[in-house]
Amino acid sequence: TTRSSAELIRAEEPVLAHNYHPLPVVVARAEGTWVEDVEGRRYLDMLAGYSALNFGHRHPALVQAAHDQLDRLTLTSRAFHNDRLAEFAERLAGLTGLDMVLPMNTGAEAVESGIKVARKWAYEVKGVPADQATIVVAAENFHGRTTTIVSFSTDETARAGFGPFTPGFRIVPYNDLAALEAAVDETTAAVLIEPIQGEAGVVIPDDGYLTGVRELTRRKGCLFIADEIQSGLGRTGRTLAVEHESVVPDVLLLGKALGGGIVPVSAVVARRDVLGVLRPGEHGSTFGGNPLAAAVGTAVVELLETGEYQRRAAELGVVLRGGLAALVGKGVAGFRARGLWAGVDVDPAIGTGREISERLQREGVLVKDTHGSTIRLAPPLTITGEELRSALGALEKVLGS
Ligand code: PLP
Repeated sequence: TTRSSAELIRAEEPVLAHNYHPLPVVVARAEGTWVEDVEGRRYLDMLAGYSALNFGHRHPALVQAAHDQLDRLTLTSRAFHNDRLAEFAERLAGLTGLDMVLPMNTGAEAVESGIKVARKWAYEVKGVPADQATIVVAAENFHGRTTTIVSFSTDETARAGFGPFTPGFRIVPYNDLAALEAAVDETTAAVLIEPIQGEAGVVIPDDGYLTGVRELTRRKGCLFIADEIQSGLGRTGRTLAVEHESVVPDVLLLGKALGGGIVPVSAVVARRDVLGVLRPGEHGSTFGGNPLAAAVGTAVVELLETGEYQRRAAELGVVLRGGLAALVGKGVAGFRARGLWAGVDVDPAIGTGREISERLQREGVLVKDTHGSTIRLAPPLTITGEELRSALGALEKVLGS
């Protein structure tokens, strides 16, 4: 017997860890920008799996690549070579303008791997004394949920109860080059930042900040690690968010959309003199670089090579910004947007981010709150102008009601 949405939500309660507080919608099917619940109600997906679905649900080219690969070979482990991995690494290095790829699975794993690579580089290349390496990060960061990563979070909910924490991190305010300058010293392996802070509420640094981070890290002789797991792969109207300032980091962390919303695929992408520090046996992952992931990841890179998705994000980003600007003072207290990505601060008198999200759900639009009264809009880059305008119309309606 099939169970209703309400029954499925109730059934989860005793058997599923309560580490999320999902909106009360049970999705059963999806295509493109649209998802459908168990009862057949349709919703416009304005979250896109936290940017893992940049190409929409079940993009035909990605589904085809996955199907073709499922029929041939799915997993070898890195004990053997597989015939898909070389092309994936070549194409991804080509797309990003960097040299080498370390394939992993989830975003947090890419971050962990980037940290390990930076530390090893600091000891072997820079000459930092053993176990003295530091990594400078920004306040309000979000880089994932592992014990090391929450060690340098400034969000108490993410940290409390999970200590003891990994040492070796220094936290400075985001968007503050003077603070960064003061924190970086001869022990610093890397500066690790998000070019735009996603979970913090789509916080965009001042023009010149990323250029400043690049200049400072080069001058001080440490690595610049850009976490583009959420900002990258078309979301902001460019392939990478750092391209808005024509900056090339030493190490790039990618995930989410790299797996096309089909399989978890992440990667550390870096110059050869950095990723080259890893030797056999020093790092690995059973699933990292598996042929299914490589096939889908290659198809994702092919989509991005066309430039179509970046162009759509840039063009529709104008519609998104215009629509939000028109709501300022009419329920929107302020917003930040780049490409098809926006953090919208709702007037707290109207409701919490959660309440606004629930009201939008009733209007057939799915979003998710971040903090307090902020909601994040990040639709698939395949969204049409008409769909985007209807989502903005729904927002206007719930803010006015
Ligand atoms: N880094 C950034 C910037 C992210 O936004 C996220 C996820 O939201 C992560 C890392 C962690 O990725 P994952 O959830 O795949 O571990």
